[in-house]
Amino acid sequence: MIAQSGEGADERHCGSRAVTRRMLIGGVMGAGLLEMLPLGTCGQNEAMAEELAAGPYRGAGDHVLFTSDAPRVYTRAQWKARPPRHPAKVIDEAPDHIIVHHTATPNSRGRSLAQAFALSRSIQNIHMERNGWDDAGQQLTISRGGIVMEGRNRSLRAIGAGDLAVGAQVLHHNRHTIGIENEGTYMTSRVPGALWRSLVEVCVWLCRKYDLDPSRAIVGHRDFNKTSCPGDVLYARLPELRRSVASRLEATSSHNSTGQNPDGEYPTDQNPGGQNDYDGGSILPPLLPSLDDLG
Ligand SMILES: [Zn+2]
Repeated sequence: MIAQSGEGADERHCGSRAVTRRMLIGGVMGAGLLEMLPLGTCGQNEAMAEELAAGPYRGAGDHVLFTSDAPRVYTRAQWKARPPRHPAKVIDEAPDHIIVHHTATPNSRGRSLAQAFALSRSIQNIHMERNGWDDAGQQLTISRGGIVMEGRNRSLRAIGAGDLAVGAQVLHHNRHTIGIENEGTYMTSRVPGALWRSLVEVCVWLCRKYDLDPSRAIVGHRDFNKTSCPGDVLYARLPELRRSVASRLEATSSHNSTGQNPDGEYPTDQNPGGQNDYDGGSILPPLLPSLDDLG
């Protein structure tokens, strides 16, 4: 859940009283409370209808594809993102952590591409219209059907270049982290297999691109901020996620050692541990902790 945005370009662009107030007292409520609302309130039904009428992207059989190098990531143009108010700031540095979120939206049974695209539009609308941000806060989104989508503008290009498009997804830590929003609420509910498989693939991709050690880099939102995100169930599976990603990276490394050139453009001497990065989650009080749990 993107409950807090923290420092970054957004807040400087949005100097309104409402945003300032949100920064001070409403971080926990910000996107999280809004994301609790039925998606239909964000115009999703209309958007989905448009998507179904217009899209070449239908069905659930062929849209979760992975190559040996990267997951298939649907672009902003494909999910029909709005233009950002301002281009995302891109910094010439790799993030040192991958933040796993849940969207705290209902656990939809929808698995279609249309549903996934509508989710991305809904999140973007909430972040821009209600939170006053420049764009969607997270860099990547994964639907419950396992469909991977670009979030904040410039994110895909930045990842490809080993850079970071600075998001608004984790208070005080946006300049050194990249965030993945996973559709659903996982306080007590199981994580769909399709979503999980895509999350593994996305983390493999990011760890490879940024030369990250999954055992240290993959964390939950609650590791940085006072929030229940990404839910107890998903959070409890992060050790499994780290192991799965490590296994995949090791397999790839073995393959590369037989002659295939690995990416050579990324630094290999990073310190992804960031032992002092954690703030103990004491930045904001848990104003509405129970709202994060839809079960
Ligand atoms: Zn979160």
